[in-house]
Amino acid sequence: MQTTKTHVALLASPGMGHLIPVLELGKRFATQNDFQVTIFVVATDTSTVQSQLRNLPNPHLFNIVSLPPVDISALLDADASIVIKIIFMMRESLPALRSSISTLKPRPTALFADLFGTEAFQIADEFEMLKYVYIASNAWFLAATIYFPTIDKRLQEEHYGRKQPLMIPGCRSVRFQDTLDAFTDPKDQLFDEYLRIGLEMVTADGILVNTWEDLEPTTLASLRDGISKLLPIYPIGPMVRTMGSSHMSENSSLLEWLDMQPTESVIYVSFGSGGTLSANQMIEVAWGLELSQQRFIWVVRPPMDNDVSGSFFKVGDGSSDGTPDYLPDGFLTRNAKMGLVVPDWAPQAEILGHASVGGFLSHCGWNSTLESIVNGVPLIVWPLYAEQKMNATMLAEELGVAVRPNEMPTENLVKREEIEMMVRRILVDKEGQALRSRVKELKHSAKKASTKGGSSYNALSQVAKQCEMSLQGLMAKVMG
Ligand code: UDP
Repeated sequence: MQTTKTHVALLASPGMGHLIPVLELGKRFATQNDFQVTIFVVATDTSTVQSQLRNLPNPHLFNIVSLPPVDISALLDADASIVIKIIFMMRESLPALRSSISTLKPRPTALFADLFGTEAFQIADEFEMLKYVYIASNAWFLAATIYFPTIDKRLQEEHYGRKQPLMIPGCRSVRFQDTLDAFTDPKDQLFDEYLRIGLEMVTADGILVNTWEDLEPTTLASLRDGISKLLPIYPIGPMVRTMGSSHMSENSSLLEWLDMQPTESVIYVSFGSGGTLSANQMIEVAWGLELSQQRFIWVVRPPMDNDVSGSFFKVGDGSSDGTPDYLPDGFLTRNAKMGLVVPDWAPQAEILGHASVGGFLSHCGWNSTLESIVNGVPLIVWPLYAEQKMNATMLAEELGVAVRPNEMPTENLVKREEIEMMVRRILVDKEGQALRSRVKELKHSAKKASTKGGSSYNALSQVAKQCEMSLQGLMAKVMG
């Protein structure tokens, strides 16, 4: 009978979209497996991250270690992409991670690093820890990332040079217009970093992915048949925040307003933790919502031209007073009865879980996508950056739970008439009902996967078992 608790360490890269699924995984290890959990967070000074960490609903479940901030300004141009900045911050944090792990008692038996943390595997090796990648996205994204570095240079060139689809054996291919930014320019530093990440991933003891068997059966089967024959893949999702994740006192008026609206009548509009629209696009969204004559909650932040992820490290800095000057004159007054405009940050898990919400216009970050699915809310897809275009295609074309604009919002201005029409398609038209019943099926399959005996529950138990066995092995070694 084992008496010492198994201790695992999780490493989250900067950004709310990365931190949230890691916190959920930590919570699951603590509650489902009774593990001791240490979560390493690479520090950023965004007020949202800090306030989330201060206000965790279950702080006793794990130990959070904020690694000291690193200065990457001398290493990169100021206009380097957000992903490159994250990669460099992770790299520069490795010495602090190493020294912090060396002080932990008992020493963790495993390290779970997200996509941008795979360089920390060298530290896991030094301390004889198991090492896992935690892909806080879906299996299709995992397949693209792990497969790309292994293919012939000529096939890579077909994709980025001749804009041909990226064929992934056994999986849906990735159209060039949906592809990852990292796969578009071999001269960009990001291209090489992604190749490195893909190669490092296969050195892990296993890969956890935030999806579930019934959501992506074909992709998971082909991953297992192909590239990952020797590398176990564990679909453990959906790992999502649920109601009760936010401190509601600040948001009680918002929920009171929702309480007064008819069932499934409100469209929630949000572009994630960092998504930003251009000034002209903000105006079109505002008019589209107004013309639709439907109820809405819209999380706004100041527009930025030519930077779709411009708010990634800036969330929480905006003003919270008055009508933002980037919205059409009189917008708030004209729409006072029909909608709410929330500056910067809203309690998304609570909003999507509210019965009055009937649709989500989303940038399709994977957390937002899952939060919509587990609440049975159909989507209007509005992908901006990272793997969001792939997610949008999956939602609209494969899963059948979303409508999409005719052209990519990153390529062309989506006009107010089209926005008005998409909102009505989701909230008013028969089409919306069909999408809603499909997404509710997915909601049930998600629930089934996560409950005791379900595929994701079992997959996480298998990972936990490996960690426990490793601990027993280490203890046996110490006892001689
Ligand atoms: N989120 C939130 N309130 C907001 C914006 C975002 O609570 O106003 C949360 C959202 O619920 C999700 C995460 O932040 O859990 C965003 O992650 P996602 O993967 O959707 O997108 P990213 O921000 O990484 O692009």
